[in-house]
Amino acid sequence: MEYYSPTDLNQAYSLLDKYGEDAIPIAGSTFYMGHREELFDEVEAVVDIKKLGLSYIRQDADGLRIGATTTLNEIFSHELTSQGPFAILATTVRELNINEVRNMATIGGEVCIAGEVDMPTTLLAYDASIVIGSSKGVREISMSDFHIGYLNNALEPGEMVLEVHIPQPPANTGAGFAKFERTAADLPIVNVAARVSLDETGICIAARVVAGAATLSGVPERSRAAEAVLLNQAIDGALIETAAAASADIVCIHDFRASAEIRSLWVKCGIEDALKRAVAAVQ
Ligand SMILES: Cc1cc2nc3c(=O)[nH]c(=O)nc-3n(C[C@H](O)[C@H](O)[C@H](O)COP(=O)(O)OP(=O)(O)OC[C@H]3O[C@@H](n4cnc5c(N)ncnc54)[C@H](O)[C@@H]3O)c2cc1C
Repeated sequence: MEYYSPTDLNQAYSLLDKYGEDAIPIAGSTFYMGHREELFDEVEAVVDIKKLGLSYIRQDADGLRIGATTTLNEIFSHELTSQGPFAILATTVRELNINEVRNMATIGGEVCIAGEVDMPTTLLAYDASIVIGSSKGVREISMSDFHIGYLNNALEPGEMVLEVHIPQPPANTGAGFAKFERTAADLPIVNVAARVSLDETGICIAARVVAGAATLSGVPERSRAAEAVLLNQAIDGALIETAAAASADIVCIHDFRASAEIRSLWVKCGIEDALKRAVAAVQ
């Protein structure tokens, strides 16, 4: 296996084109070191993308832009993602309790893994999109279309994630995140992100309720039924309970880590918790 460390995007693209499906881009490498070392034996080339200038967090008129190789700890400590309308990003990172992983793992790596990771759940709740580059140009795809099945994303050979784009949420928006795991060093068994936007009279004008790491489909899913309960209502404790109870539209997976029944219960509890936090965080 060859290891490459290109220093500009065109070099990276020509390597990805040259090797096609026999090359993988890597960023923090924590997915391989932690769970999938054997995948290194299945490719001819590894293209390290950390020197491509894709580590940044910026705000512009369209919202927040986070470069693909920005680490989770950079997100945890940056002023644009640890406070204000995007503070839920740092909150999500805080729930990953291994500092060594947070120092290495990147937002690009997180979104590329359609599986037991946290950030895609939060990004789906914020209607984020993924900016993808290749020698053919740049395209942008919604987070909801980017994951197409367990460990399967919409990238074609030759493509890589350049950036995550999160639109500016309306004023009076709050968000909450909840997670269930076996130990602090374990991957999530269930995670939930909720976002609510209220009008000036306190009525809910937008709601996102998302569960990840637990679904039968293998990708984070919105509970449209829970969102419908919240929309056009003043949110109080009773309404949050009703919304959480409606989350049975999310069908959970049964595997060696937890049964579908316990996951469904944790999705419901997580939604209650995340919604309470979201309402309390409205700013
Ligand atoms: C012990 C342990 C516990 C963990 N616990 C959690 C947890 O609780 N919650 C959580 O969210 N995460 C957790 N993680 C991290 C998570 O499992 C992944 O390892 C991490 O998100 C991968 O990020 P990375 O930058 O290291 O990606 P890499 O390992 O470099 O790559 C991961 C995948 O994405 C692809 N890739 C990476 N960047 C790009 C790009 N820009 N364009 C195209 N493809 C790309 C790679 O080819 C690979 O397929 C944990 C990791 C470990 C080791």
